[in-house]
Amino acid sequence: MVWPGNARLPGAAVGAGSAMTTNLLAYDLDRLTTFCEGLGEKRYRALQLFRWIHQKGVPDFDAMSDLARGVREKLAAVACVKPLAVLSQHISSDGTVKWLFDVGEGDAVESVFIPDDDRGTLCISSQAGCAMGCRFCATGHQGFSRNLTTGEVLAQLWFSEHFLRRHLSRKDRVISNVVMMGMGEPLQNYSELLPALRVMLDDHGYGLSRRRVTVSTAGVVPKIDALSQDCPVALAVSLHAPNDDLRDKLVPLNRKYPLAELLPACRRYLAHAPRDFITFEYCMLAGVNDQPEQAHELVKLMQRYANGTTWCKFNLIPFNPFAQSGLQRSRPEQVHGFARILSEAGIVTTIRRTRGDDIDAACGQLAGDVRDRTRVGERIARQRTLILRPSSTSDLSVKET
Ligand code: SF4
Repeated sequence: MVWPGNARLPGAAVGAGSAMTTNLLAYDLDRLTTFCEGLGEKRYRALQLFRWIHQKGVPDFDAMSDLARGVREKLAAVACVKPLAVLSQHISSDGTVKWLFDVGEGDAVESVFIPDDDRGTLCISSQAGCAMGCRFCATGHQGFSRNLTTGEVLAQLWFSEHFLRRHLSRKDRVISNVVMMGMGEPLQNYSELLPALRVMLDDHGYGLSRRRVTVSTAGVVPKIDALSQDCPVALAVSLHAPNDDLRDKLVPLNRKYPLAELLPACRRYLAHAPRDFITFEYCMLAGVNDQPEQAHELVKLMQRYANGTTWCKFNLIPFNPFAQSGLQRSRPEQVHGFARILSEAGIVTTIRRTRGDDIDAACGQLAGDVRDRTRVGERIARQRTLILRPSSTSDLSVKET
């Protein structure tokens, strides 16, 4: 396998379309059909077009050989397939690849491809920055600029899939799993997320099963319910604490949707979910949320909502420290001890293998490049610093810096 190497790649985007034309990357099949009908074309034209764009990765209408010349000309006059410009590409020693995509006006977002023996996972961003302000997350500290459009969400998958196919000389699909765990809170960008998910699942698009597309949320309760009705893909929830007191501090959204609302929403989601469990993510922070008594508290919390069934799985994530966080990674023995307590209580628990940390591509490290229009980042930096007293959760306090 020959990679082009770590590099700044200005202008690597192919055939950026005019601002005046419609970017067809932003359309799911229904919308594309409506668009084609508006041009006087039948549904099967939309299908052909959709396959050229997403299955074959062709952005140029002239190269779509089974479309009549008249159709191609009509399309070229009003539409384009506009990829994102790639600002940089970094490749980790473990094969993880990180791209920085330009989304305009000074904002850039990151996507990460994580290869494994039996699968290839792409982690995609849904927003330029994030307004949620989670304490342990580099994106959260950076602040928020704007929601990505459907086209910008899909352009990350479109580029990565077809770039990897070319460089790995593969004809079949390279990306087998998509996780919406990059920059941003996907459920705060629901209307743009939904069509993007539909294209990922569409057999004429990327053909991924609902089990292999995961939306990760900090816990936007009304949208968890909406997703269960509209497009129930796999759900992951950033939990990170066994009680509201601590979660209020680590995941500020908890003040709006506390555990007593979030966990019943997760249970409701299960009735529609493609898997028979919800994944809870738990970032292991030394002396903050990694104590044995907190693991026992977590077990009790999960049992309260279990209704006698196995309904959740835990993914313990080693924290990737960054300068402004003031937090430390838990020691491995602490993480293993925590995992043991959950496992012994019958909760399936995995410890996430850190991937791509030599290129800052590991979980919680994605930071792109965004203008903080909301000043969230500034506020977090100014506001408070967690003072860590490992002896007990109740000792965790905050103080003005
Ligand atoms: S963990 Fe997710 S929701 Fe929280 S700040 Fe980071 S990107 Fe936003």
